[in-house]
Amino acid sequence: MPNILILGGDGIGPEIMTEAKRVLSCFQNELSFTFIEKPIGGAAIDTHGSPFPKETEEAALQADAVLLGAVGGAKWDGLPLAERPEKGLLAIRKTLGLYANLRPLTIWPQLVGFSPLRPERLKDVSFVIVRELTGDVYFGEPRGFKEENGQRSAFNTMIYTEEEIRRIAKVAFDLARKRNKRVCSIDKSNVLESMRLWREIVENTHREYPDIALSHLYVDNASMQIIRQPSSFDVMLTPNMFGDILSDEAAVLSGSLGLLPSASLGGQSALYEPIHGSAPDIAGRGLANPIGMILSVAMMLDHSFHRPDLALKIQKAVSTVLDAGLRTADFWNEGTEKVSTSQMGSAIEKEITSDIVGVRK
Ligand code: NAD
Repeated sequence: MPNILILGGDGIGPEIMTEAKRVLSCFQNELSFTFIEKPIGGAAIDTHGSPFPKETEEAALQADAVLLGAVGGAKWDGLPLAERPEKGLLAIRKTLGLYANLRPLTIWPQLVGFSPLRPERLKDVSFVIVRELTGDVYFGEPRGFKEENGQRSAFNTMIYTEEEIRRIAKVAFDLARKRNKRVCSIDKSNVLESMRLWREIVENTHREYPDIALSHLYVDNASMQIIRQPSSFDVMLTPNMFGDILSDEAAVLSGSLGLLPSASLGGQSALYEPIHGSAPDIAGRGLANPIGMILSVAMMLDHSFHRPDLALKIQKAVSTVLDAGLRTADFWNEGTEKVSTSQMGSAIEKEITSDIVGVRK
């Protein structure tokens, strides 16, 4: 019986998680899973004094898959970096060995008019960002603040080992084999030693994948090409920090940051979360778009439970609801129907249920 760990987190996290659970419950007969809920992030700081309490860590290590909402908020912004809610996120990735973050970008045809790009620029756009998740400047040591001669300075270390680069490059090349066989690796090897090593190891690893076309872009150029020629990408391989930034930029092409799911893989279990943060500016008002969270459930059914058929039911239901013109506030425009977080979730649930009932009949 699959055991799913639910981590709502902060801000809009618990609101969108309610909708994810609602959707997941549609498949109780197919999968008979159990949920366990635990605190993470700011909520865990408030109740347990730590953003990643021991009981959450133990539950994560026992879970078959983890669903995460989002963490963070102004209430905890004054804490030292090592005690902030975001530390919980980094800690769970490290604990579970989740070094590969997959962020697929889908352009829903119903939303083309809502993207900031002209419709002709969005033709044939479909790519996946494969972001390295447990290395780079976010984890590199030494890091910290120091004071010399009355002047404060702060420093971080952008560091990658050969093995860290090789294993994420393999994820990108293997994924490209299932897609259009193109990998574009992003770096800044013209100025950074860690990125020189990145390019060298990506090229070495590529020798095992002669069927895949490999290209390279500096990150500044990549950020421009995402807007100029997004259809040129198939699999985009990135170090941790560049992937963090580029995936928010890419998300905007789809119409809203709230639409995009992600999967973090590499350990014995995987973690699924929308790519956005806790959106404190809209929390608690029923304004959050739950679709990125709900599509993260679809990624979980596909990758962790090997049920692409069920994942497809969720994607079809989302598409039908978009066809019907339902929109949360973040991607609403004239002529469409503005709905709340829970109305969006229940419309998607209704579509899935009628699909399942239709099949069972
Ligand atoms: P954010 O992603 O939370 O929000 C950016 C903008 O997008 C905001 O205007 C927000 O209202 C909007 N938005 C995001 N998700 C949305 C959704 N589902 N529906 C509708 N609108 C949505 O980024 P931020 O404002 O830079 O960060 C807020 C907090 O989240 C910070 O504490 C940050 O550290 C944290 N954060 C957490 C994660 C995570 O948990 N994985 C990721 C990024 C940021």
